[in-house]
Amino acid sequence: MDLSTTIERIPRIGPVFQKRLKKLGIKTVQGLLFHFPHRYEDFSNLIPISKVRINEICTVQGRILEIKTIRTWKRRMFLTQAIIEDETGAIKTTWFNQPYLTKILKKDDYVFLSGKVTVGTSGVYLNNPAYEKAFLGKDLVHTGRLVPIYPETEGLSSRWLRYILRSLLICLKNKIPETLPEKIIKKEGFLPINKALWQIHFPESENLAKKAQERFSFEELFYIELFVLRERARLNKEKSVSIPFNIDLTKRFVDSLPFKLTDAQRKSAYQILKDLEKSRPMNRLLEGDVGSGKTVVAIMAALNTIKAGEQVAFMAPTEILVKQHFQEVEKLLKDFNLNIGLLTGKQDQFYSKKLKNQVIEISREKLLEKAENGEIDILIGTHALIQDKVKFGKLGLVVLDEQHRFGVEQRARLCRGYGGQTKLIPHLLSMTATPIPRTLSLTIYGDLDLSLIDELPKGRKKIITKVISPKERKKTYDFIRKEVKKGRQVFVICPRIEAQNSKLKTQNQKDVLGWAETKAVKEEYEKLSKTVFPDLKIGMLHGKMASKEKEKIMKDFKNKKVQILVSTSVVEVGIDVPNATVMMIEGTERFGLAQLHQFRGRVGRAGYQSYCLLFTESPARKTKQRLNALLTSEDGFKLAEKDLKIRGPGDFAGTRQWGIPDLMMNSLTNVRLVEKTREAAKEILTEDPQLKKYPRLLAKLGRFRERIHLE
Ligand code: ADP
Ligand code: MG
Repeated sequence: MDLSTTIERIPRIGPVFQKRLKKLGIKTVQGLLFHFPHRYEDFSNLIPISKVRINEICTVQGRILEIKTIRTWKRRMFLTQAIIEDETGAIKTTWFNQPYLTKILKKDDYVFLSGKVTVGTSGVYLNNPAYEKAFLGKDLVHTGRLVPIYPETEGLSSRWLRYILRSLLICLKNKIPETLPEKIIKKEGFLPINKALWQIHFPESENLAKKAQERFSFEELFYIELFVLRERARLNKEKSVSIPFNIDLTKRFVDSLPFKLTDAQRKSAYQILKDLEKSRPMNRLLEGDVGSGKTVVAIMAALNTIKAGEQVAFMAPTEILVKQHFQEVEKLLKDFNLNIGLLTGKQDQFYSKKLKNQVIEISREKLLEKAENGEIDILIGTHALIQDKVKFGKLGLVVLDEQHRFGVEQRARLCRGYGGQTKLIPHLLSMTATPIPRTLSLTIYGDLDLSLIDELPKGRKKIITKVISPKERKKTYDFIRKEVKKGRQVFVICPRIEAQNSKLKTQNQKDVLGWAETKAVKEEYEKLSKTVFPDLKIGMLHGKMASKEKEKIMKDFKNKKVQILVSTSVVEVGIDVPNATVMMIEGTERFGLAQLHQFRGRVGRAGYQSYCLLFTESPARKTKQRLNALLTSEDGFKLAEKDLKIRGPGDFAGTRQWGIPDLMMNSLTNVRLVEKTREAAKEILTEDPQLKKYPRLLAKLGRFRERIHLE
């Protein structure tokens, strides 16, 4: 048996358990051994029975004097009762609903019991203790030590996992090949892998458990760092077309804008334009809070690229956003005589060519043809852009808006068919409003250069953010009506499209469960348009609508034909309606902080006082904590750090894509560890860039690559 042995071939794991393990993604011995406990129960306090104290967690060892299971009719459960005796005394023990215990534990057996000493009507007893029969020379697994507790999964108890893991570890004792370079183990004082695996599952002390965790946290991060640094080195060897920084053109563009660029926008644009001049591919992330004006910076890069005779692909996550960008680009580049294409996912593809300032529709085939023959200067689209059929004649720049991912893969796909045998690859500009905490930018975003837009355009007022209690709903509607009467517009965001199946939920059940209905767009739309605001114009927007409908409603909202827009989170990223001043959010707790901050960024864009009103269904403490963060901070960066702390990085940009295990998720919040692993990775790569001396590392990285490219 070795690490690659599949679970089917492990003795004592039958088909039922195989299935349960596979549900967790565990397929091999390796997978099992690296399924780590998330905490330990400290049962190491082994004491004589006479010394037990009430409310103490302890382990006692002794002989079973008697044991029986009875059925309590009143509460309809099984109660197993036993008395255990050692030289110093005896104690009662009680287990609930484990009638099979009397088959395992018999009178006169010697056992270890670990649990809490409790006092009840019939005196002092051990309450539901962990148990383990004692044999001569047998190590303790479930009692009398630090006992590993595994993340709970249906049908896979910690007890069962301990039993299997224990036998695997014994079977593979000292046979697991070391994965980290010896040098690093020495330098950091890490436990070698065999010992570390043993200690993470069955630690002799808390200190050793911690040391084992440290090693594995380091190791996972270390692979990521190696991977990222190697990608970067690889990219540095590639070639791109150098795009000259056309100063006159850029000036002309800036002068044509209806506003003055902020210093931060200028600085970012300069960094980008300087990067484009190089014949190495740019790999840059433009990060700026919502409303900081990233689009116009991207357009400056696009304009220079086009004037250098190259094409630009501009990709955004939703159709709505793509259309908005299309309009914006069309408007801002009106005087530059360009061909701008629009490509989305559904059947109604059309191409719009700015010819004497007019938009025309053409078939999708035509559009693709024009992309390939280079006639289109800038093609704006959704994911449809990276479909097989789309080819560019001479793609010089890829802009990814709010993609929340790396872009490496997108660029790779867009490169196909580009440049023929010249093998040039386009520059990449990725844009995001989700600030990336430092630890993440050092790891999974580590191969990107960063430009920051760290100021908002002048004259914007601070958005007033408030958590609204259910009692204040009516008052809030009155307030909304006032804003609309002033000529302003309103967003209402709901977490779902359709109402939940409410068959099961009588009012009584709802009360018992503390259940509150999650607001749905369709229902709210009905309610607002028929009951609350019958006199106002209400619109509805959600992801399941046909794209023509979506487009129309967005247009109506932009042109103020609709006053209140009830929508799902499709408006989250990028939507720009400067006249909107109220962002009302239902079911706030269902959204992440960064997402809420994005919603909030939809208003306050034109100098009117704006409001973000948060309705919640749950009074949970964690919700409050999160919402408080939103109330007290307008800084997207700080919010992201807080979100990371409160929710863990699971929801963060890109992390899910890496299939990062829990243990490492935690270490992603540890800046020092991240920096350390980066240094270590750099050292190894300086010494041996091809990792020739480290075939096992190389193999690991290969698997990594597969994982990322599978998305
Ligand atoms: P985001 O960074 O969130 O993508 P946008 O690019 O959508 O922001 O810009 C938000 C709004 O601000 C747009 O209406 C845009 O025209 C406007 N804008 C951009 N830069 C400036 C500026 N320097 N001064 C005033 N308004 C600006
Ligand atoms: Mg944007």
